[in-house]
Amino acid sequence: MLKLFTPNYYIHRYTALRPAFLKEQGIQLLICDIDNTLVPHDVAVPDDEAIAFLKSIQDAGIQIVFISNNVEERVATFAKGLNIPFYPFAMKPLPKTYRKMLKDFHVKRDVVAVLGDQLMTDILGANVMRFYTILTAQVVERDLSFTKVNRVFENIVFSLLKVTGKLVKGEYDE
Ligand SMILES: [Mg+2]
Repeated sequence: MLKLFTPNYYIHRYTALRPAFLKEQGIQLLICDIDNTLVPHDVAVPDDEAIAFLKSIQDAGIQIVFISNNVEERVATFAKGLNIPFYPFAMKPLPKTYRKMLKDFHVKRDVVAVLGDQLMTDILGANVMRFYTILTAQVVERDLSFTKVNRVFENIVFSLLKVTGKLVKGEYDE
């Protein structure tokens, strides 16, 4: 059970995720969360650093898609001009949207990675799908109200992961 909450790779910030590393894992599709993974939830557009990161992944020949439980307006505004497909209202951790992506991009699950900041949504849903899972520490401490609830459960899971020696919060793999 705890295995479903354990990421394959744990980083302090998205910038620590190197395109060459993804290539080594055989990744062809990177599903990327937005809120508190790339920017705080109340920042509407990507900054230069996020844009450079996304471009570096694309330049390596890896397709990026955005996934978000947030509303379409927020996700569309963020993705504008980036030429990156996006899936709002994703209802993570339900596998529905992840499944749709496999169909839309005609890829097998073993070439897909997910980058996100939440164990309870991003990582759980992606592990159920048996994707390669990458957890990043959140960009800022502040969260959307429904995310605050998730964080309470997330901290319990972090405690269990620590006790069982699977993962220690703040001890990164990079
Ligand atoms: Mg997030």
